[in-house]
Amino acid sequence: MNDTPLLSVDSLTTTFETDGGTLTAVDGIDFDVREGETLCIVGESGSGKTVATESVTRLVKSPPGQVEGTVRFRGRDITEMSESELREIRGNNIAHIFQNPQDALNHCYTIGWQIAEAIQIHEPDVSDEAARDRAVDLLDRVGIANATARFDDYPHEFSGGQRQRVMIAMALATNPDLLIADEPTTALDVTVQAQILRLLDELQDEYGMSILFVTHDLGVVANVADRIVVMYAGKVMERGGVYDLFERPAHPYTQALMECLPGKGQGDGGIPGSLPDPLNPPDGCRFAPRCDHAVDACRTGDQPEEIEIGDGHRVSCVYYQSGYDESTVADESLGTGTSTATGGVGDD
Ligand code: SF4
Repeated sequence: MNDTPLLSVDSLTTTFETDGGTLTAVDGIDFDVREGETLCIVGESGSGKTVATESVTRLVKSPPGQVEGTVRFRGRDITEMSESELREIRGNNIAHIFQNPQDALNHCYTIGWQIAEAIQIHEPDVSDEAARDRAVDLLDRVGIANATARFDDYPHEFSGGQRQRVMIAMALATNPDLLIADEPTTALDVTVQAQILRLLDELQDEYGMSILFVTHDLGVVANVADRIVVMYAGKVMERGGVYDLFERPAHPYTQALMECLPGKGQGDGGIPGSLPDPLNPPDGCRFAPRCDHAVDACRTGDQPEEIEIGDGHRVSCVYYQSGYDESTVADESLGTGTSTATGGVGDD
């Protein structure tokens, strides 16, 4: 892995015009994805992480959506590209896999035909026979047993886990530089989830691709991430390397997510309270209405500036600014260590 960003996202803001007014789903966030790494964006449902990744490749429908900011892929500004250039990037360089493969697969065509078609769209000179061979090879590579025979089966003849494997095969058909995986294992049981995560890890090594992984589940993050961006209500709360974040979760929201890990304080109960109304977010820190440590300064102005507290470890919380005692929120007892967090998810 090197440190050159494959993808650089700067001041990304995504709004939607609704009957109730302008809804800001993503509010001026920055992040980058380096060559060969897995960057995880984590946050509760509704935190804006899916909209952020869909904004990267302009999958957000406009209108009602409006995307602002800069997105650079290998130095080229995606936001300035024509539709045909964008299609080329989506077809050749950046692939998506989504939470529900049944929504992405066409139930009228066989699995093999759909993968072969993806190959031939990407490489029109490939013959039908060669595309079929490569599709069978991809099915085999993602762990579909008897791939040659299964080529002619339809999506409904596969289990949920197998369909997700097929989606991964389709994504790999274009040999992408960046795979955007949006909650790809959420609909699967824990055992299949672990298998899919392991498969993605193996394929990343084999294909040398970067992965932008979106999830609400910190347990999954511990298994796959090199670096983490924690999002809440459209803003970045904390970011850093996986070890730093798990050893020293600095933001009260990250700590609250940690508490929800199995065996921790909240268990499966979730974080008390709910996300703010995106049509009318609170002043100051977005997490203030749910934060036990909130003081008056948390409720005015904008989201606190991100403060660097370690190598690439940054946190948006007033307690890390000068004049405050960070030990008030820096609860060392919450550090889980990645080995603890991976328990249960990473094992078949
Ligand atoms: S800025 Fe204030 S409200 Fe926000 S996380 Fe820090 S202490 Fe809590």
